[in-house]
This record gives sequence, structure tokens and C-alpha cells, in this order.
Amino acid sequence: MANETPQVMTIAGTDSSGGAGMSADLKTFFAQHVYGANVVVSVTAQNTFGVQQVQMLTPNMVTQQLTSVGSDLKISAFKTGMLGDAITVHTVAAAIEKHDFGDYILDPVMIAKGGARLLTEQAIDAVISDLLPLATLVTPNLPEAEVLAHSQIKTHEDVADVAKRIQELGAKNVLLKGGHGNEKNVYDYVLLENGEHFWMKSQRVDTVRTHGTGDTISAAITAQLALGKTLKNAIITAKAYVDATIRDGIYVGHGHGPLNHSA
Ligand code: PLP
Repeated sequence: MANETPQVMTIAGTDSSGGAGMSADLKTFFAQHVYGANVVVSVTAQNTFGVQQVQMLTPNMVTQQLTSVGSDLKISAFKTGMLGDAITVHTVAAAIEKHDFGDYILDPVMIAKGGARLLTEQAIDAVISDLLPLATLVTPNLPEAEVLAHSQIKTHEDVADVAKRIQELGAKNVLLKGGHGNEKNVYDYVLLENGEHFWMKSQRVDTVRTHGTGDTISAAITAQLALGKTLKNAIITAKAYVDATIRDGIYVGHGHGPLNHSA
């Protein structure tokens, strides 16, 4: 019998040290038993200390990659990660509207943990206007959610309000990741299209090996949707996967090391 492995896709930037971005996405797809296609929009020179250089690909090359994948593979869910600048956001939005790639997980990557800007200021409006309305789910962390909603988050009540505001901007479902908070536990908040909402609480792991956690959870949700899970179950399963990859970290590099995808 033919192998019916679901096909998914990441549209993102590379990480030369193999920890974040597209590397994290592909490792997650492999670990979750889906087949991953990869459309590169930017190449980064980076390591566990940070991002040293970024080179964007041309809009034409981005469009062509999406055409190449769309005219051959059968993608049933996909995610976007680092998109870099406004022209790339417009290019990706136009291309994904032309194809049927299935469920869309929007990880609104803005700034790396090391401080490097992975999305220009000008591109933020483009993400809101062009991509949020196309997304099945958007997965901001606390600082990204504050930027999208133009609103500060200080309390759990603020988290819920900001998630609602982001949903009003056009995203059907919102996962607001609490990892950047300073509480003893991490609280992620989920707001679904039908109004259902819930918190996911996990113990904060005291580690510097968290490079690529955001990429990983959005990739895992993408994979789980392609495997047929409901969005709610995909999010819960993905959260457990990321927690395991953080708890079982590996020692690579001398800074913020990567996750362990064979945990
Ligand atoms: N590099 C690329 C290409 C990314 O897409 C990301 C995150 O999305 C990062 C770096 C940053 O990863 P982190 O903030 O987990 O260090």
C-alpha cells in the first residue's frame, strides 16, 4: 500500500547552527511522523550566541518555491516563521492565497531571544493586514502579542483581553505563549474560534537550552493538524512535545543551546 504520510510545509528562515527556524521545524516534523517541505525566505548566519547576519531571498525566488511545492506536493497544513520584511510578507500572503495548502499556523516571529530583529517594524502592519486573516491559528509569545494588540500585558486578565483583541484582528484562533513571563510556572492561553478558552500550565525548566521553542511548538501543531487531530488536541499535544524537548536538552554550543528533538 502506498505510504500515506501527511505532507506539511514550513515557510521560514534558516539557522546555520541547526537549532531554530527551519531546522527546528523539520526536526519536529520528522519526530511527529509527517513529511516536511521547506520554503526558505531568509538565510541567517547564527549560532547559540545570536544572529550574526541575515540575507533575504528575492520575492521572485520565494514565489517560485511556493509554486514548485504547490504544483506537485499535497500539503495539508503549513506554518510561517521568520518572514523578515514587508515585501516578503506581501509575497507569501499572495502566494498562499493562490494555493490550497490547508490549515495555516502563523508564528509571528519578531525578535530572537538573543535580541536580533527577525521582522522589521514596517512588516508588523503587513503581518496584521495580510496574514492574520488567513491564519487558522496565530501563536504569539507575550512580547509579540503586545505588539500585535498595541497593548501591554501585566496580568492574566490582560492576556485574555489581548488574545481577544488579536482574534478581532482576524486570526480565528489564538495561542498566547507565556514562556517569556517571569512567574514560577509558565501559563499559555488558548482562545478558540467558538469562544472556548483555557490555560495550559507547565513547570518552568531552569535551562538556557531554549533556542527554537517557538518554532517547535508551531511546527508540532502543524504536524498534529495534518495527522487529523482537532486544533485543541493538536495544541495540547504540541505543548507536551515542546516541554519534553526542553526538559531533555542537549549540549550544543556555548550559549542558548537547542532543544532535543529525540527526547
Ligand atoms: N532564527 C530563526 C530563523 C527563527 O525563525 C527563530 C525563531 O523563530 C529564531 C532564530 C529565534 O529563536 P529563539 O528566539 O528561540 O532563540
